[in-house]
Amino acid sequence: MDWEGRRQSDNVEDQRVNPTGGLVTGGGIVGLVIYLLVTFLGGSPQTANLASQVGGKLANEFITTHANRQLTPDEKKIGKLVATVFADTEDVWTELLKNTKTPYRYPKLVLFTGQVSTGCGGASSAVGPFYCPVDEKVYLDLDFYNELKHRFGAIGGDFSIAYIIAHEVGHHVQNILGTSSQVRKAQQGTSQIGKNKLSVALELQADFYAGIFAHYEQKYLDAGDIDEALSAAQAVGDDAIQRRVRGQVNPDSFTHGTSEQRKYWFTKGYQTGDINQGNTFAQLK
Ligand SMILES: [Zn+2]
Repeated sequence: MDWEGRRQSDNVEDQRVNPTGGLVTGGGIVGLVIYLLVTFLGGSPQTANLASQVGGKLANEFITTHANRQLTPDEKKIGKLVATVFADTEDVWTELLKNTKTPYRYPKLVLFTGQVSTGCGGASSAVGPFYCPVDEKVYLDLDFYNELKHRFGAIGGDFSIAYIIAHEVGHHVQNILGTSSQVRKAQQGTSQIGKNKLSVALELQADFYAGIFAHYEQKYLDAGDIDEALSAAQAVGDDAIQRRVRGQVNPDSFTHGTSEQRKYWFTKGYQTGDINQGNTFAQLK
């Protein structure tokens, strides 16, 4: 992907070195250090007081060294890639939704490591990339990208990161268009299997929107970029993940769609560039 030297979004909050969850983590560390010191020192009030001073000092040092560490050149580079792709999503979706009843509102993107506090509650990197409709922010821990490559067998590459971002931005578009709230309403009073099917349709539509983004991004694409996106979509299919994690597949529990479905809808968006062709809910009826 040709991304270097182009506009980067101002809407990226890089919390990789200054996490908002840092105080919570720090508090936890202080608590733990104090507890260990009190335990080791025998636990009298005086020793607890001493331990608290020593523990506080240690924890402060911990926070200082970790919070103020420098990003590595690779981490900086990937941050610029993310900000450039995010800027491109702003341009594409502003254009696509202009002159509609629902013009595009810029979301924010938070880069984090480990833990993060969000408008939707606290989260750790274990949940993978996600979008929170309450604060309209995309949360991205780049460890997920490494996991995609090393654990889930995706080929990686810059456009696989672009696909992940574009999928999450797709959820923001659904939020703007009102689709996600309609789905949440429809999910009330239906069976778990019914809820899962609606969730699959919502996720496949986010993949479709990622494909739409790729369509309008063609001028920046290199040979192999679409394969990178498809390989990532393949890797995060419910069937692929379940097979790898549980050794078996249960279609009723799918919430994101199979590898084939995810690739199909991404490709449909990419080939048509027409947002009206993304009715992934039609197959439910
Ligand atoms: Zn999703």
